[in-house]
Amino acid sequence: MSEAFRSGFVSLVGKPNVGKSTLANRLVGRKVSITSRKPQTTRHRILAIRTDADTQLILVDTPGLHDAGGRMVNRVINRMARSSLSGVDVILLMINASGWTGVDDLPFELATSQKVPVILVINKVDRLKQKSDLLPLIEESHRRFEFDEIVPVSALSGHNVEALYEVVRARLPVAPKCFPDDQVTDKSARFVVSELIREQLFRQLGQELPYVTAVKIEQYDESDDGIRVHADIWVEKSSHKAIIIGRKGERLKQIGTEARQQIERFVNKHVFLELWVKVRKGWRDDSAALEGLGYSET
Ligand code: GDP
Ligand code: MG
Repeated sequence: MSEAFRSGFVSLVGKPNVGKSTLANRLVGRKVSITSRKPQTTRHRILAIRTDADTQLILVDTPGLHDAGGRMVNRVINRMARSSLSGVDVILLMINASGWTGVDDLPFELATSQKVPVILVINKVDRLKQKSDLLPLIEESHRRFEFDEIVPVSALSGHNVEALYEVVRARLPVAPKCFPDDQVTDKSARFVVSELIREQLFRQLGQELPYVTAVKIEQYDESDDGIRVHADIWVEKSSHKAIIIGRKGERLKQIGTEARQQIERFVNKHVFLELWVKVRKGWRDDSAALEGLGYSET
């Protein structure tokens, strides 16, 4: 007897660095969103889609939540996080196996204020010395809120991720699929390309600099031979521009090479990548500029 087809939207909420992107990639089985040891690399909503014989799970990877500072870019990101929760069928709230912290308060409040089943995902259980360490955390969590289910996982190793998938699946409505089978993400390749360039900025520039840069795809032309991409990297100061370009352009060249290789793996084609660094003062407080970069709300 065949089960009814289930399909629905699942939102993933949790503090920066808790492992949301890693779990999204695990669930979908292909790299669609960007992971990094540094927080907040996912600034956009990303829909990862997993389609099986009887299920289509559409994952909304929320941007890293953080208490908004004055910067418009932060306020916009927090609003996007809230809007990504409306209309979903299931919410996954993720915390670390090391326990609840103050930084979990905002995601907790967001997740539990919706009228939707909330599943608590306890991540990074691979870091626990012994499994029994989990029991007090599970009890404490039950006291905090009536979670529909509490599922410990390791997004990194994949431990228990398929069990989580089954738990989520059972809560999706019986409905036909929304997207064709081969669609892994509804974000355009253009967007993924800009995220892959951003990822290289995070990997190759230390400290704070990546947070004050943005990537804008100026040209994206696909042909049989390959893809030609021209991207601008925006910075706020010419001193930042000098750091990114590096001595004799070496650092920018390295960023471009690594990014190109990542993009080629993603699109499976030759890529010709041209990167320019541009100084654009105050772009983070300029709403028109943010909209041009894809930070606008829908
Ligand atoms: P996000 O900010 O919530 O999207 O977090 P990421 O998915 O980018 O993960 C942040 C960091 O935590 C990365 O270095 C991951 O490799 C690491 N990480 C994610 N899941 C696990 C896990 O289950 N175990 C361990 N040990 N590390 C993890
Ligand atoms: Mg992320």
